Amino acid sequence: MAAINPVTDLVIEDGIAVVTLNSPPVNALSVAVRDGIYQGIGEALDNDAVQAVVLICAGKTFIAGADIAEFDKPRSGLTLPQVQQRIEDAGKPVIAAIHGTALGGGLEVALVCHYRVAVPSAKCGLPEVNIGLLPGAGGTQRLPRIVGAEKALEMVTSGMHVRAKDALAMGLVDELTPEDGLRAGAIAFARKVVAEGRPLRKVRDMNEKVEAARGRPELFAEFRRGNARKFRGFQAPEANIRCIEAAVNMPFDEGLAFEHKLFEELMAGTQSAAQRYYFFASRKAWNVPDVPADTPTIPVNTVGIIGAGTMGGGIAMNFLNAGIPVTIVETKQEALDRGLATIRRNYENTASKGRISMDDVEKRMAQLKGSLALDDLAQCDLVIEAIFENMDVKKEMFGKLDRIVRQGAILASNTSALDLNEIASATSRPQDVIGLHFFSPANVMKLLEVVRGEKTSKPVIATCMQLARRIGKVAALVGVCPGFVGNRILAQRQREAGKLVLEGAMPWDVDRVLVDFGLPMGPFAMSDLAGLDLGWRRENSTGSTLREILCEMDRRGQKTGAGFYDYDDKRQARPSPVVENIIRDFAASKGITPRVVSEQEILERCIYPMINEGARILEEGIAIRASDIDVVWVNGYGWPVYRGGPMRYGDSVGLDKVLAKMQDFEARFGDDFKPAKLLVDMVAQRKSFKDL
Ligand code: NAD
Repeated sequence: MAAINPVTDLVIEDGIAVVTLNSPPVNALSVAVRDGIYQGIGEALDNDAVQAVVLICAGKTFIAGADIAEFDKPRSGLTLPQVQQRIEDAGKPVIAAIHGTALGGGLEVALVCHYRVAVPSAKCGLPEVNIGLLPGAGGTQRLPRIVGAEKALEMVTSGMHVRAKDALAMGLVDELTPEDGLRAGAIAFARKVVAEGRPLRKVRDMNEKVEAARGRPELFAEFRRGNARKFRGFQAPEANIRCIEAAVNMPFDEGLAFEHKLFEELMAGTQSAAQRYYFFASRKAWNVPDVPADTPTIPVNTVGIIGAGTMGGGIAMNFLNAGIPVTIVETKQEALDRGLATIRRNYENTASKGRISMDDVEKRMAQLKGSLALDDLAQCDLVIEAIFENMDVKKEMFGKLDRIVRQGAILASNTSALDLNEIASATSRPQDVIGLHFFSPANVMKLLEVVRGEKTSKPVIATCMQLARRIGKVAALVGVCPGFVGNRILAQRQREAGKLVLEGAMPWDVDRVLVDFGLPMGPFAMSDLAGLDLGWRRENSTGSTLREILCEMDRRGQKTGAGFYDYDDKRQARPSPVVENIIRDFAASKGITPRVVSEQEILERCIYPMINEGARILEEGIAIRASDIDVVWVNGYGWPVYRGGPMRYGDSVGLDKVLAKMQDFEARFGDDFKPAKLLVDMVAQRKSFKDL
């Protein structure tokens, strides 16, 4: 074997050259890898003894994409298109041999090879859309030439990974090799190509599939219509669609130039920068500086959950989905039956959509045991409490768990806001107590706030972070304070939303501004969905808040057909003249004269205090890093990822501007806008959150 350069080897076996890339961990297309491919392929082609070339990767995967870390640096070395041209124009067949994932630039390299073979477990995809981009090295022009416009649209706008079997059916790969025989299979395939004198097949010349879509603009119009909701606010999906349209309507080279132009536009734009920032933020969040990767962890093979209500049931599903048996405990048979039935119904719904099989439903349900006896949790490795949000009730429960559950097990609470240290103090083993704050619906929402108490041990933290990954969550480690990171910041926005409607904005004005900003729902529509009567009791109601007044009128949200909005029988919301009058009367009773509140004020009043609270959270060490706060808000509250997260948004607005506005609001509206010390200090030092 001859080393061509530090990442490339070349061997020639009986006329077939095998170029092997080896750049751990994922053979990303760094300068070195681009050079390596160019040189390796070049040397093979220049060798008269070589009849065909196999391009294969060492390690766990074929080229898994671009080297994103290079995006924000000055460009250097060979460009990917230069490398691709060397392959595509080769006078001898080049065969890509794929294992692991051929993603983004990796698949674009494979697409300029004349043939592709893969192992059955391999996956292919163009996921650039997820970082606000499009495949900028011919992916949007070549993919539809193989799979057709419809399938290409789906792939580039979703970033989906296609399994090798499906890739074979679509023509994206030409042959599957045995799982453990990629190299031999690729060489055998290469020999076959040579022996049969197969042509040097260039995807750029394959026009049949794109011609089939030409003159059918409705194909694209329908795709846009069908996905309008999903793509709302994002620039990259539309740019990807336009490139597929170009592939269909333009000659190849023009399409390529069009793709290049749109790629550069996205690359220079704010959305992709924010999405790339978020990509790194979500990876960093797993890293806890004082809990190193080699911290011992506690095996978790059985989980106990207390409370089969809204949260307990959803939490249980996470573990069942990961194949971990769960015992769920309730106080009454009726509540237990209801909880178990809800879990089954959820699974059956998923099965009816074809996402899992009925067999999977039964397998998961078989791993779930219901019980009315806490004693049944004695041998669990992890117990998660999801009962009523009341400190006395929780402390009593943790006291019992302390007596019942075996030593060494992890005792977790799903509390949304209570003091975890106080809960832990009810046990003789506070080092084993931790918060696992799931979000509702717990089987759907990606976020898990892992709450570290004063005494929580490092192995318990390490175990819970690892477990979060195992059950497919995005975790952020946070400290103890009311509402932790997510809800504490949310409280700022909710307070301002409430004040704004008394000052003259209507609930639908506030909601519209926040939805236009990119949030999935405004605070008032959200309240209507959750029910205005959460925690409300008629006998205690004093009509002292808008919410109480609405509940007293039986306007309790969507479920009663009326809340802040009026709802029709399809649950479509309409602004309510009744509510408008109630608000005006209520404001008048408080001596407030309504004024016109601008959209800009709504946005700044709702968002800037969130950024300010984030700064306080950092000041207090409740979050490890600013980017963790962004991870919490993107995954737990639907903050638009193309704006990075609230802290990144603060940076992009300019913290000096945020501070100046907070000071202006403080002068006009008082202490709710008191700037955080950290914010003041950062502005004085011309720093932003990314510099912390
Ligand atoms: P819920 O009222 O739907 O469910 C609580 C369940 O616990 C009930 O079924 C009740 O019968 C059961 N229960 C009460 N005491 C019990 C006991 N001693 N033993 C066994 N079971 C008992 O409440 P929920 O919305 O699921 O909330 C549970 C916890 O999760 C609370 O701490 C809440 O703050 C937190 N949380 C809720 C949400 C949310 O959006 N609902 C989100 C995050 C966290």
